[in-house]
Amino acid sequence: MRRVVIAGGGPAGAAAAITLARAGHAPLLLERSATTQEKVCGEFLGADAAAALAALGLDLRGLGAVPVRRAIFASGRREGRFALPFEAWSLPRLVLDEALLALAAESGAEIRRGVAVASAGRVDGGWSLRLGDGRAEAARAVVLATGKHELRGLARAAAGGAIGLKLPLDGVPIGDAIAVLACAGGYAGLQPRAGGGANLCLALGAGTPGLAAAARDPAALLALVAGGSAVARDLLRDAVPGWARPLAVAAVPYGYVAPPDSGVFRVGDQAAVIPSLCGDGIAMALASGAHATRMILAGRGPAAHQAGWGRHVRPGMRVAGLLDAAIGAAPGAVALAAGWLPGVARWAALRTRLGTPGA
Ligand SMILES: Cc1cc2nc3c(=O)[nH]c(=O)nc-3n(C[C@H](O)[C@H](O)[C@H](O)COP(=O)(O)OP(=O)(O)OC[C@H]3O[C@@H](n4cnc5c(N)ncnc54)[C@H](O)[C@@H]3O)c2cc1C
Repeated sequence: MRRVVIAGGGPAGAAAAITLARAGHAPLLLERSATTQEKVCGEFLGADAAAALAALGLDLRGLGAVPVRRAIFASGRREGRFALPFEAWSLPRLVLDEALLALAAESGAEIRRGVAVASAGRVDGGWSLRLGDGRAEAARAVVLATGKHELRGLARAAAGGAIGLKLPLDGVPIGDAIAVLACAGGYAGLQPRAGGGANLCLALGAGTPGLAAAARDPAALLALVAGGSAVARDLLRDAVPGWARPLAVAAVPYGYVAPPDSGVFRVGDQAAVIPSLCGDGIAMALASGAHATRMILAGRGPAAHQAGWGRHVRPGMRVAGLLDAAIGAAPGAVALAAGWLPGVARWAALRTRLGTPGA
């Protein structure tokens, strides 16, 4: 009998694989990379991500995650600080993604790494997938978990968007805080990294002056972020880049929510893309993977999955979108508000956690 095939082995695909396998469905997961790769990501995990991972059986502390307890907003000479209203963590994607795929295999999913899905087309009663190695795979249903990568014939109708950059750093006294640092073209996130050092990650508008240089040259990136606030200047004064050049990703379609029309179960960034630092994409990826599984087990189709997931995320995505726009338009006011009204900042942080496992 044809089985469910999952395209993509990030958090969304792995969560779908684990939950389907545990329900006795023995899915096949195809991941194009032979080994786990670095991804442009702040690596911040909020309480919803932690709960979803615990529900799957992963212990963040055991994996070496470090706690994040405080938030700092900074712009120019202004800054606001508040305690996070939930327990949060930082864990490298290399560790998280590998642990999730290992758990999927242990749970009974078949994992094939180094195999890309090239395209997917409908056939009688299911799908036929063409693989990068030239073979074909038949599927009863397809879970599309390819993150920001589009599959031929099934591309998201999304207008994007932002340019994302990531750079690990040493010599940054960030402590147990996540700092949201306004800079030209948007804002950057800086937070501690498990094993020492810090992770600098940002998403900027494509036309930002200096962006091309920042994407090539760590010194230019540090100068761009340090130029945005006194806090950033202080934090980055002795920063030592861990890579020769930042990792970059283009055309991130913030605000996208998939309509229920494609015939596949879209999960993770294929289902919705929340502005970074205003919400947790990983938590949403995990929860959407589990949502797709529940729909498949209930005999419901992709349209019901997409409609249900869209209803769940839209209100919080609106708050995240407003927050993103406010930081972009008036970063100084947001920094002041975060300091003066920590209750409002904590409310916004809670309203944008959309990865509740039960969703
Ligand atoms: C600048 C920035 C900062 C961010 N910071 C955070 C943060 O701090 N915390 C947070 O929670 N989220 C953050 N996110 C969002 C988060 O990274 C994503 O939401 C999350 O990775 C989505 O998971 P996913 O499984 O959908 O996709 P991915 O993690 O991208 O995984 C997709 C997988 O599919 C594979 N794949 C792609 N195409 C194919 C194919 N054709 N065949 C087979 N396999 C394929 C890829 O190799 C990849 O492993 C950030 C995003 C950006 C851009």
